[in-house]
Amino acid sequence: MSITEKNMSAQELRERYKAERDKRVRNDGPEQYLEPTGRFAHLLEDPYTEVKHREPRKDEVTVAIIGGGFAGLCAGARLKEAGIEDVTIIESGGDVGGVWYWNRYPGAMCDTAAMVYLPLLEETNYFPSAKYVQGHEIHAHAQRIAETFNLYDGALFSTAVEEARWDENIERWVIKTNRGDELKAQFLAMGTGPMNNPKLPGIPGIEDFKGHMFHTARWDYDYTGGDRTGKPMKKLSDKRVGIIGTGATAVQCIPHLSATSGDLYVFQRTPSSIDERNNRPLTGEDFDDLQPGWQQEWLQNFATLQSGGFADKDLVKDGWTDIAIRIRDRIISMIQDNPELGLDEVWLEAFTDSDDEKMNDIRARVNTIVSDDQTAESLKPWYRQLCKRPCFHDEYLQSFNNPATHLIDTDGKGVEQIDETGLWANGQHYELDCIVLASGFEVHIMHSAHYETYGKEGKSLKEHWDNGMKSLHGINMHGFPNLCILGLAQGGNLVANVTHNFSEASTAIAAIIKKCIDGGHTMFESTQEAETNWVNRLEAQDRGFLANCTPGYYNNEGHTSTDRDLFSNARFPDGSVAFFNYLSDWINKADFEGISFS
Ligand code: NDP
Repeated sequence: MSITEKNMSAQELRERYKAERDKRVRNDGPEQYLEPTGRFAHLLEDPYTEVKHREPRKDEVTVAIIGGGFAGLCAGARLKEAGIEDVTIIESGGDVGGVWYWNRYPGAMCDTAAMVYLPLLEETNYFPSAKYVQGHEIHAHAQRIAETFNLYDGALFSTAVEEARWDENIERWVIKTNRGDELKAQFLAMGTGPMNNPKLPGIPGIEDFKGHMFHTARWDYDYTGGDRTGKPMKKLSDKRVGIIGTGATAVQCIPHLSATSGDLYVFQRTPSSIDERNNRPLTGEDFDDLQPGWQQEWLQNFATLQSGGFADKDLVKDGWTDIAIRIRDRIISMIQDNPELGLDEVWLEAFTDSDDEKMNDIRARVNTIVSDDQTAESLKPWYRQLCKRPCFHDEYLQSFNNPATHLIDTDGKGVEQIDETGLWANGQHYELDCIVLASGFEVHIMHSAHYETYGKEGKSLKEHWDNGMKSLHGINMHGFPNLCILGLAQGGNLVANVTHNFSEASTAIAAIIKKCIDGGHTMFESTQEAETNWVNRLEAQDRGFLANCTPGYYNNEGHTSTDRDLFSNARFPDGSVAFFNYLSDWINKADFEGISFS
């Protein structure tokens, strides 16, 4: 640990965090990014699957699911388990997998332990090969789920929804696609994810570069050589490669670029926090003692520790649970020392202290790995851990000890300009053969990002959410009968294990639809009162934490001034596990309070 840090008081840390944030907040906020058009329009195309001609489909289905990622697959699986067979997935990609279909960059891997990240492991009788598995294994698992539950049957791939509209006369959702399909679905589930399109950094001159340029979401292995299983990218051996961005994606692909590029220039605006990953293969010993129901137990255990709860054992034991356990233990010791204090009084202080301690460890870790002091200083993150997606890696920081890997720290300013031969940062020009854009994805709370959803009386979801998202449980909306969405917001919002949110929501969705069918009803809808009560209940949650964070997509690039921006992050005030338990009780009671069936 550097001397400065060791001596930094909590107050000094707060000031440093604020100064680093202030440096980075830009007037243009999220507008700084560009949608891929012009020379970048291909980023919206699918390079992996040839689109084959087919006749438009015009028929009826019981359930249509938009999105074939883990959200849609979990919903499909739970519906099939509930005996609802007529399920059609509509997916813009050429296969299931969602982000794991599109993102094939070298080093792509889950950041959450595979035993909890990969959904439906027991149902598919699969055991992950390692604690954290590579993207291609995750994609194969998505395929396994689709095969196990016959979700490939009738699925419409390479098909983008253009509109979903509730037709009150026939009491069906009418779904139109870019392939001329017109599906009439009794029920509609949307698992479209918040991040589907790559976005570009709005750097002047980005169109001018004459060398090679691609986005991480469409890795160009023809240019780099290698493949997504990690074969070396030999074609880069004589190339000067620049990468823009140091977020979770860049952290995973930089070690591979570092190992193979002639020279690698990493253009950093804000460093990521890099904790250790400690990946290891999983063997028979890891699985032999598991009893039926083990995955739900692991999920519950991981989520409990994430929510500040108490569990006898830490089954997953990783960087995510480490911070959670620190907070929990600090709360215990504070209450033991001051028995008159209640949980509410100590929680905030324990959270802040543990966060400071954790981030001091993260910064100290940089010095233990990176040999050049100046580079090490530049790689230290100055914000609270959950302000940005925490990263875990055992080769990222080490890459900067490679003399051919150059960190270009822009001290929060970013790349200034791109021209025909390279780019400018800190007033200096860097000649490059190739630029890799690791600039992330458009983020929407709207499940209408690329198509519009019209409910009763032609009211759009966008209109319904004009002053912020409104839902019951983050799943149902008043005025949108027979519609369910799968996401994080207004539900458990467990960011440490995104798929867990999907599997819990899927169980609820399957139960609601089954109740509707078995009860001889044709329609269900959240009542206005239930939706309003739910939204009010979520209001109790303190949402100040993210607002004061360093800018990023978590907080609308630091512009979280409107209720709507903050509200997208709203979650059940008592945390994810409390929400999952609440939802499970709500399902088991079987009266589905707040939903009217007709
Ligand atoms: P991010 O949005 O997290 O990162 C974009 C990066 O581009 C940031 O470092 C940003 O800097 C940088 N940037 C943008 N504009 C400029 C500029 N003008 N000059 C220099 N740098 C610039 O995208 P990612 O693709 O990394 O990650 C997106 C999300 O995907 C993650 O947060 C995570 O949720 C998910 N993910 C999950 C993984 C997993 O589970 N294994 C792996 C990878 C991604 P700044 O920080 O200053 O804005």
